[in-house]
Amino acid sequence: MSECECLEGCPFFNDKMANMPGTAEMYKKKYCKGDFDNCARHMIFEKLGKPAVPGDLFPNNQDRAKRIISAAT
Ligand code: SF4
Repeated sequence: MSECECLEGCPFFNDKMANMPGTAEMYKKKYCKGDFDNCARHMIFEKLGKPAVPGDLFPNNQDRAKRIISAAT
């Protein structure tokens, strides 16, 4: 199984999830080390580039990601 290319520097884990290791592991397993095409953060990264990804966007918040993408395109 492949890994998301953003995993190393994904600010979501280095910042927002630092005090919630259990939850962070769950997201990593589901998205970063698996279904990253459906990660809300990755969706924006692919379409708009890294600077457009909000720091506090959760991987499972695809609705917000879609709104951000359609507002920008
Ligand atoms: S949260 Fe999303 S963008 Fe960040 S490393 Fe995981 S899959 Fe990649």
